[in-house]
Amino acid sequence: MASFEAEHIAISKSHGVKIDWRDGHHSQYELKYLRDRCPCATCSGTHGTPPPASNPLQLYKPALKIEAVEPVGNYALRLKWNDGHNTGIYSYEHFRLICPCEECRRRGATAI
Ligand SMILES: [Zn+2]
Ligand SMILES: [Zn+2]
Repeated sequence: MASFEAEHIAISKSHGVKIDWRDGHHSQYELKYLRDRCPCATCSGTHGTPPPASNPLQLYKPALKIEAVEPVGNYALRLKWNDGHNTGIYSYEHFRLICPCEECRRRGATAI
């Protein structure tokens, strides 16, 4: 299978993530798009069911932001969100699979 190697990654904590791939492909992800596709067990485990109730004391919900990014080896990024979630480890393979560009969506449409 193809290996997914990132040539360049640009992270904007309030806008999103851009990745230039070694094979010449370019991907751009919005924050909400990435947050919704968090690959951690908690998020992917609740897929298809309502998410657990959020803290009822948290009446004010700030705009989604990335608080910190931590490289995991050389194959993934761990994204820490301002909603307190920080267990999502986004491998480059995951990034590439969820690439929202038209070309990838068309290719993925048959797989999903
Ligand atoms: Zn998660
Ligand atoms: Zn793509």
